[in-house]
Amino acid sequence: MLGSRVDVTDVRLPRFPVFLPMASCPRRCVYCHQGEITGEGGVPPASVKESLARLETPHEICYFGGSFTCLPEEQRGAYLDAVRSAPDGSVVRFSTHPLCVAGPVLRGLSTHPVSMIELGVSSLDDTVLAACNRGYTGEFALGVMDLVMREGYRLGVQLMTGLPGQSEESSLEDLRRIALLRDRAGAPAVSLRIYPCLVLEKTGLSEMFRRGDYSAPSLDHAVLHAGRMLREAKRLGFLVQRVGLHDTPSLSTNVVAGPYHPAFGELARSVELVACLLEANPAGPWEIDGRRRSMLFGHDRYGLRHLADRTGLSPSRIEELIRFKEVMTGRRGTNDVPGD
Ligand code: SF4
Repeated sequence: MLGSRVDVTDVRLPRFPVFLPMASCPRRCVYCHQGEITGEGGVPPASVKESLARLETPHEICYFGGSFTCLPEEQRGAYLDAVRSAPDGSVVRFSTHPLCVAGPVLRGLSTHPVSMIELGVSSLDDTVLAACNRGYTGEFALGVMDLVMREGYRLGVQLMTGLPGQSEESSLEDLRRIALLRDRAGAPAVSLRIYPCLVLEKTGLSEMFRRGDYSAPSLDHAVLHAGRMLREAKRLGFLVQRVGLHDTPSLSTNVVAGPYHPAFGELARSVELVACLLEANPAGPWEIDGRRRSMLFGHDRYGLRHLADRTGLSPSRIEELIRFKEVMTGRRGTNDVPGD
């Protein structure tokens, strides 16, 4: 079934991101204003082609920020054809909305080296999806994921935390449902991105927030939520590509409320590390890969303080109970894949 699909199990190409903010989105999600996040407008296919022709090594071309498969066929084809200008061995991935994925659209991609299709799913909880104006149910989104996997494409799923009406348990249940689907489809690894919901200017959510119909979670609460999701995601065998939004000056100046932090992902990874340590040994001592030192001592010792909170031990006692193991290989941590 893979045919021209790229087996990307080991794709580790440098990325060439192209942002197409809100391009052809079928509806406006309540929290979204992509232009505010990226601070960019769309790039026409001819400009992409020119830039790609100047690359000297193969890249993974990433069309992010809109609903790629909802673009008019001609425009979508032009963006895909532009990839042919990149050096041989280059591949393409894109993000899209679940409402824009159907069998014929997927089959139309078969002559292109598609490395991954990322679905912006947000949640599988019907109440949350309705509150966010996503336009589909959790069952529908699962059906689309199933289709992507069964057509032989590598699947990426983008989930969010802190959405209107969403609980931590509902997020964890989303992960379990996706893992079950993946296992039934016999698909290889599924990649995840986990984004915290922020209240941005000029969005429906900012109106809800100002009316008092939505309260944004605190940074601490959101980091714990994302950290627990990360732990569950890894336990279920997902590859987690990113936790937290890519920080830009435009994003930080447009946040009205919500758990904005430029190192949100690192804080969540600290929570995940602490969960792993406590599962291995609730009271210590702990041996930790030296490359993860910053997850305990970075950001004003966030991880260390969290471990102290969880155990009731003092930070100085925790330090006595930790031994860092220096690893001599140049390899990344087991669950890390190149982020963007
Ligand atoms: S969240 Fe995604 S699908 Fe929704 S409006 Fe924004 S870019 Fe479009």
